[in-house]
Amino acid sequence: MAGAERSDPRIRAMQADITTLAVDAIVNAANSSLLGGGGVDGAIHRAAGPGLLEECRKLRSLGGCKTGDAKLTGGYNLPAAHVIHTVGPVWQGGGKGEAELLASCYRRCFEIADAQGFTTLAFPAISTGVYGYPWEPAAEIAVAETRAALERHAGIACVTFTLFGEDMLIIYRRLLGEI
Ligand code: ADP
Repeated sequence: MAGAERSDPRIRAMQADITTLAVDAIVNAANSSLLGGGGVDGAIHRAAGPGLLEECRKLRSLGGCKTGDAKLTGGYNLPAAHVIHTVGPVWQGGGKGEAELLASCYRRCFEIADAQGFTTLAFPAISTGVYGYPWEPAAEIAVAETRAALERHAGIACVTFTLFGEDMLIIYRRLLGEI
């Protein structure tokens, strides 16, 4: 069973609205058009303002973002300096490569953050809203990929899992060995 391992002080979980965090980059659970949607994507676009949509339109004309990949933009009116947009898989029962695609989202975000020299990052629980990924296995992937990425990318100092709701927070805190 994946679960309580030694806690890493560089990884934390909190209940918050990701649009309020002043970090080098917040991660957006986007869709492949990058043109905004509901959930965290809508909240990020509302808080960032029209400049973000403008930059996302340019990315879309260059091919958008494939499931499992990620793209970088500025943060515009957000307190975060940048947004890393990643497209999680839609849950289809687990037999369509969803776990590998979700892991790839986290890996690509860390690759971009590392290449840019970012030290502070915040993630939402990618795919666990409208895309329907079951919470516990999604959180296991998020935590495992983050631990692995911190081994590879020594410059990343703080990763915050920013979660909506107490139930999701408890899942993460347990996996992080905090409870
Ligand atoms: P997806 O389409 O990838 O499932 P959603 O935006 O529907 O993306 O949901 C992803 C997760 O983000 C869900 O757990 C949802 O509760 C959460 N969420 C929605 N808005 C915010 C926000 N402002 N800050 C942090 N998490 C959020």
